[in-house]
Amino acid sequence: QDVLLKVEHLKKYYSIKSSSLRGKKSVVKAVDDISFDVKIGETFGIVGESGCGKSTMGKSVIRLIEPTEGKVILDGQDFTSLKGKELQEARDKIKLIFQDPYASLNPRMTVKDIIAEPIDIAKCYKTKEERDARVVEVMKQVGLNLDYMYRYPHEFSGGQRQRIGIARAIALQPKLIICDEPVSALDVSIQAKIINLLNELQEKMGIAYIFISHDLSVVKHIADRVGVMYLGNMMEMADTESLYAKPLHPYTQALFSAIPRIGKERIEDKQILGGDVPSPANPPKGCRFCTRCPKVMDICKTDRPDFKEVEPGHFCACHLYDKK
Ligand code: SF4
Ligand code: MG
Repeated sequence: QDVLLKVEHLKKYYSIKSSSLRGKKSVVKAVDDISFDVKIGETFGIVGESGCGKSTMGKSVIRLIEPTEGKVILDGQDFTSLKGKELQEARDKIKLIFQDPYASLNPRMTVKDIIAEPIDIAKCYKTKEERDARVVEVMKQVGLNLDYMYRYPHEFSGGQRQRIGIARAIALQPKLIICDEPVSALDVSIQAKIINLLNELQEKMGIAYIFISHDLSVVKHIADRVGVMYLGNMMEMADTESLYAKPLHPYTQALFSAIPRIGKERIEDKQILGGDVPSPANPPKGCRFCTRCPKVMDICKTDRPDFKEVEPGHFCACHLYDKK
C-alpha cells in the first residue's frame, strides 16, 4: 500500500512562564519527536489520555499550529515548507474535523453556505449551478436531508452538526481527514452512525483518516493501525489486531486494562494507572512513563528508550525490549 502521509520527527514546543520557577520560562514539549506514516485509504488511530499531545500533534501535521521541528510529507510533497498559494492548494487535500463541530461552524451561515465555503474559496466550479449541484451531492453523501439546506447550525443536534462538519470537510475530496475526537461528545447510538458514515466515505472516496481518540473501543472499531501516545511521545505502534491482542508497552497494557467489559462499570484509567500524568513542562527524564510504570528499572529513569521494531510491524519504546 502506498504512503500518503509521512510524519518525520515532528516536534511542537511551547515556552510558558512557570510559577514554580518564579516566572522563569520553561518549555512544554507537547509533541516530542514523533514519526509515523499513513497509507492511502487507511485509518491510523491515535490513542492516549487527555493532555498527551494528540490534538497538538494533529494540528501540527496540518500546520494549523506551526511545528517547532520535523517534516510532514503529503502526497510526495514537503508540506512543511509550503507557502502562500501552494500551501493553500495542498491544504485542500487534508482536512480536520473536531469534537465539537458547533465551535467550528459559523452560527450565522446556513448549512448550504457552510458547505459551499471551501468550494468557493478553491474556485473549483465555473458556474453557480455546478457549485450548487456539488453542495447537494455532498449533503446526500453524508446523509443530510436536503430540506436542511437553508437552516442554521443551532437548529441541529450534535450528530447532525457533525454531519455538516464532515460534509464541509469532504466538499473538496480530500485525501486525508484528521478526526480529533469526532464522536466523543455524542451519544453512543449516534457515535455508531457517524463511525459508519466515516467508514462508508472511506470506501467510496478512498479517504485516509488519522483518528484521534481517548476511547480505545471506538479506535479498535475504526482503525487499521494504532499509535499510542503518552506525554508527547509515541510509545507503541502496530496494526490494530496485534496491538489489542498483545500490547507490548507497559503503558498500553495499563490503558487496556481499563477498557470497560460488557456489563461492568467503567473504572477510571487513573485508578488503574496510579498517579497523574506528569506535567509536560517538567516531564521525567529517561522514559516518560517511568513515574507510573509497574515494571520500571534503573535505566528507565536516565535513558530515553528508542522507538524500535520489536516484532514485524510492531514498534515499541521500552527498555524491556532492548536487545540484551
Ligand atoms: Fe516502564 Fe522502563 Fe519500559 Fe518505560 S522503559 S515503560 S519505565 S519498563
Ligand atoms: Mg485532545
